Amino acid sequence: MPATVLDGKALAARIRGDLKVETERLAAAGITPGLAVVLVGDDPASQIYVRNKTTACAQAGIKTFDHRLPATTSTDELLRLVATLNADPQVDGILIQLPLPAGIDARRVLFSVDPRKDVDGIHPENVGRLLMGEPRFVACTPFGVMKLIEEARLPLAGAQAVVVGRSNMVGKPMAALLLNADATVTTCHSKTRDLAATVGRADLVVAAVGRAEMVRGDWIKSGAVVIDVGINRTAEGKLLGDVEYAAAAARAAAITPVPGGVGPMTIAMLLANTVKAAEIRAAR
Ligand code: NAP
Repeated sequence: MPATVLDGKALAARIRGDLKVETERLAAAGITPGLAVVLVGDDPASQIYVRNKTTACAQAGIKTFDHRLPATTSTDELLRLVATLNADPQVDGILIQLPLPAGIDARRVLFSVDPRKDVDGIHPENVGRLLMGEPRFVACTPFGVMKLIEEARLPLAGAQAVVVGRSNMVGKPMAALLLNADATVTTCHSKTRDLAATVGRADLVVAAVGRAEMVRGDWIKSGAVVIDVGINRTAEGKLLGDVEYAAAAARAAAITPVPGGVGPMTIAMLLANTVKAAEIRAAR
């Protein structure tokens, strides 16, 4: 049986449609969800990400407040902006596009965001809540992966899940979400011995490494679900995931494509978190 291709683009479109209905309901109650988008410097990839996020917000009925700052911005200047946004009642969510330029203390800036506006789910309070099984805002990419797994109808309770990668933005929150869903979770990283054998035991593999096709197709257990978070651009400009797609798809029960898998879900979950923040405000 060929693997089911988990269509993140279609699922994200559905979620965005549902969010539009929700923002219309909120608008009728006098609430417009607002997202402040802060971009420092002129990194071309970040500019594209910010543009895509802003367009998606407009389509979903979320108002955006754009803050574009030069690469020479100091940490203190950025901290002052975050303090203003924290206090602004029109701003439900604050997105600080990463990476920040090298001269800025990114940790201080990210930790200064009000955790109730941390729609990226990276503030320690939100990470701690996730670990305690009481999530409020969850990092958008792993949150989107969970939605894709729901689509694959993989029962997670008792399943062997292997997450390759342990970044704060993807691998660690991914492992926490899977553990909260009662999977038996193994997190692999660059020091892991015999990655192939560990991946080979998994009912679910989530690859978030940032190395093109490093998870080989013949490592995948027959019938496993494979989620590929990786986005790697080849010298020819082609996008490749972290998983050797064709060979993995020949063994997997379900697999995400790159592009069109996890990527669109990340943006949809940013919108979902922002709408949730507005709902929390409305309930206060
Ligand atoms: P990252 O911060 O660079 O983390 C990569 C992780 O992979 C690290 O934990 C690293 O281990 C591990 N790793 C590196 N080489 C390895 C190896 N040979 N074997 C096993 N593990 C290895 O990257 P990230 O931010 O998590 O992103 C991962 C990928 O996802 C990238 O391609 C990124 O572009 C993509 N991404 C996509 C989306 C989306 O929306 N689709 C969102 C975010 C990220 P150590 O900790 O030991 O160094």
